Amino acid sequence: MTNPTSDKPLLYGRRRRLWIGATVLAAASVAVIFAESIAARAGIESWIVGLGGIVVFALVLFSMARGLTCPGCGVNLFWYGFAHARNANWLDWMFKQSVCPKCGYSEAGSQNRS
Ligand SMILES: [Zn+2]
Repeated sequence: MTNPTSDKPLLYGRRRRLWIGATVLAAASVAVIFAESIAARAGIESWIVGLGGIVVFALVLFSMARGLTCPGCGVNLFWYGFAHARNANWLDWMFKQSVCPKCGYSEAGSQNRS
């Protein structure tokens, strides 16, 4: 059974971006959770660490979401996955998604790559 392109995930070309983003999100979450101990070690106020973590989290989340849209219908796959994936495994969901859940668009059916 040869199936070279049809199982290629929609966001295949953005995997690295998603991974980096997810890593930074995890790091920012850790910074918020352990804000007090990080602040104590760094010698700064804990609210600065907490606020910094939240700001980084929000910035990375929105920069990850930018451009992750379906070429067919324009739905933002990032927010769609974020809202619809179960058990918070939206990253996994996004990597495996080979067709658009809304319009059925797939990379295999399109050779229009500029
Ligand atoms: Zn679509």
